[in-house]
Amino acid sequence: MKLLLWPALLALTLPGLSLGVSTQDHAQAVLKFGPRVAGSAGNEQARSYLEAQFRALGYQTRRETFAYPRFDDLGSDVRVGEQLLTGNALQNSGGGEVTAPVVRVPGVGTPADFARVDVRGRVAVVERGQIPFIEKTRAALAAGAVGVVIVNNSAGDFRGTLGERVDVPVLGVSPTVGAALKDGQPVTLRVRVREGNVQAVNLIAFKAGVDKPDVLFGAHLDSAPGAPGANDNLSGSLAVLDLARRAANTPLSARSYFLLFDGEEDGLLGSRAFVKDNPDMVKGLKGMMNLDMVGVNVSSLSIRGEAPLVEAAQRAGVSASVDTASSSDQVPFRQAGVPTLFFNRGLDANYHQPGDTLLDPALVEQAAEAAFKIANEVLKMAPLK
Ligand SMILES: [Zn+2]
Repeated sequence: MKLLLWPALLALTLPGLSLGVSTQDHAQAVLKFGPRVAGSAGNEQARSYLEAQFRALGYQTRRETFAYPRFDDLGSDVRVGEQLLTGNALQNSGGGEVTAPVVRVPGVGTPADFARVDVRGRVAVVERGQIPFIEKTRAALAAGAVGVVIVNNSAGDFRGTLGERVDVPVLGVSPTVGAALKDGQPVTLRVRVREGNVQAVNLIAFKAGVDKPDVLFGAHLDSAPGAPGANDNLSGSLAVLDLARRAANTPLSARSYFLLFDGEEDGLLGSRAFVKDNPDMVKGLKGMMNLDMVGVNVSSLSIRGEAPLVEAAQRAGVSASVDTASSSDQVPFRQAGVPTLFFNRGLDANYHQPGDTLLDPALVEQAAEAAFKIANEVLKMAPLK
């Protein structure tokens, strides 16, 4: 791995800050905090670390908070004798622990299927498919079941949502786990869930006095549950930091905002909150560039968006194409009428997995360099309105 040091920046580094100033050093420092699920301690530690780096580059920072409800599975399983088998609570499942014999329900769990067996006071085990989870669950409850296990109809685990709150534990399991649940055998079904309000935070870095930026660079810092999120999306977050470094002593710094969004994995909630809370600033933007998963080269760097920025990219000698199919934090800006570009290197094999622990600093910096060149062309564009 390449180690980069910038002597000029070392001189600017404030007392108490880490002297690690390369993308590689920042990656190592932030990955130590673990997954960065919105509302978690690791998420806040990562943001505080990066906030200090923006300040060391001479930027001010501001935090904008927003809250939203979320259902979390804190770890759910089914115990068969000595065997502890794991699964995923369905969203809106009740929490709790029940011990009762298994009844294997024939068919797919329609009321007619439940009429063929007696699940009263039992744990109903039913196959996934054909009808919604909630219909299977309602039929199980109507028949008196005290817990429901839904067995995947293809290999591996699954996650699903019931769509409405139920009072009994409902667990989704793989076919392998499902096969271990034998008719008449007692099991202990344990579903640990939390329904709470997430307190989320967008971090905004900008030069003192700038309140009408032309360009906004963004990336989400939050990760999916259980995923260290090196590529998704510490890579984009570090690209935004690297953009702030590149811009620092150039005119671009006084015409840009640098954002680290929270709550992307829960539905683009940070970018939606920012657009909603800053309508005047958003209206004045000439462009928004979003970097998401730019540290692992599945395919080469793809830059896609609306024509005005694609044309700016072409003038900057960077290849980009008109395409607005991707879903990430550029979407709320596009919906507000801002031309956007989405920087991405494809979905790697560790996407949303515990194995998302690697990013290539050189790829992160290449993405930042491309965005930097394009932004300098965007500055030359006439205001949109
Ligand atoms: Zn992402």
